Amino acid sequence: MKHEEKIPYKIYLEESEMPRAWYNLRADMKKKPAPLLNPATHKPMKAEELAGVFCDELIEQELDEDTAFFEIPEEIRNFYKMYRPSPLIRAYCLEEKLGTPARIYYKFEGNNTSGSHKLNSAIAQAYYAKKQGLKGVTTETGAGQWGTALSMACSYLGLDCKVYMVKCSYEQKPFRREVMRTYGASVTPSPSMETEVGRKILEKHPGTTGSLGCAISEAVEKAVTSEGYRYVLGSVLNQVLLHQSVIGLETKTALDRYGVKPDIIIGCAGGGSNLGGLIAPFMGEKLRGEADYRFIAVEPASCPSLTRGVYAYDFCDTGMVCPLAKMYTLGSDFIPSANHAGGLRYHGMSSILSELYDQGLMEATSVKQTEVFEAAEYFARIEGILPAPESAHAIRVAIDEALRCKETGEEKTIVFGLTGTGYFDMVAYEKFHDGMMNDYIPTDEELAAYRAKLPKIE
Ligand SMILES: *Cc1c(COP(=O)(O)O)cnc(C)c1O
Repeated sequence: MKHEEKIPYKIYLEESEMPRAWYNLRADMKKKPAPLLNPATHKPMKAEELAGVFCDELIEQELDEDTAFFEIPEEIRNFYKMYRPSPLIRAYCLEEKLGTPARIYYKFEGNNTSGSHKLNSAIAQAYYAKKQGLKGVTTETGAGQWGTALSMACSYLGLDCKVYMVKCSYEQKPFRREVMRTYGASVTPSPSMETEVGRKILEKHPGTTGSLGCAISEAVEKAVTSEGYRYVLGSVLNQVLLHQSVIGLETKTALDRYGVKPDIIIGCAGGGSNLGGLIAPFMGEKLRGEADYRFIAVEPASCPSLTRGVYAYDFCDTGMVCPLAKMYTLGSDFIPSANHAGGLRYHGMSSILSELYDQGLMEATSVKQTEVFEAAEYFARIEGILPAPESAHAIRVAIDEALRCKETGEEKTIVFGLTGTGYFDMVAYEKFHDGMMNDYIPTDEELAAYRAKLPKIE
């Protein structure tokens, strides 16, 4: 083992080293991400127009592309201290097993009850809702991590939390549901009869097991029609990437302490929030010409928005009630095949990451789900942590890059984001172990059919 490097297995920061401000990557982008558009007028959304849906301070963060740092309010920092700083782990055991000269680090965000990085933004969004004097918030959840994180944040602050959970997850993941209820949230399977958009979708597609896009529409409708409620979203939005910058800022402080400079930074990409947060300070250096890094976004081959989508304005939800966002997208009707078990199933991608990818500043790759679960199991057996399937997308590519180093003899430093734990994903692991998992990849014809339905924006 390469212990002579004097880098511990786990680098823990002191509480005093935690970031005091979030970093807004857009401030350093010369060409900014495209603005959100009003779905009716196709004009950029103004703060007033968003105010019925989102909390006021979060709208300011959403629209601000110039302020580089936003101070983290003390109450949020104190909440962070219950589970942060999160460790940056040197994967000595994995390196040895792979026989690679590469040095591998991972930032582990699974060390809280919600089991993922989503709590970093949930507490921020709940805080601003509370500060505004609201009664509660509504949201959607797919696999359940975001709903769990938001429930925790809301119960901490005394806010009501109403979650629309994609029906198939509601049925398949009863334990997730109960965790949310333990924290006091109400959980409704989506589509439901509670909202107009839900009733319409059920009428058109009776028996549907739901989708994220559909649950978003229901949560937004509920928020705008309930006094004292706003809608909050766990990924994709600029404000979420801003809050998640805490991941990258801590990672950078930990690496700087030992004078380590990464060559490759890898993260899984669903809506793009953990990856956007992890790479933020490093991408900032790249944008300012101070350093260079390779950034790799990893997505499932069954939901390949960056690698096979188009860069265009699209709806963020199935019901078309949200603003239009310019992003790499598969079309808002796209739903990954029923066999897809590994999360990361949103049809679009953060507009910040989409713009960086379009400018060639970030790479993207897609991986098949059986290869993802092979990597997940391999990693669990060597490093001990049982990864979320989402996180295992990044593990897969980190291992592949480390094996490439073995061939070439290059001593690259690889950092990847281990976004969460997989305890609630045992049905997916079971399918993998029983050989019941397949790798369905959408055909070009299927993707073209969804693409044809994109809104026409001149
Ligand atoms: C939600 C989630 C993701 C994907 O979301 P991003 O916004 O792309 O980060 C990845 N990993 C875990 C564990 C998640 O819960």
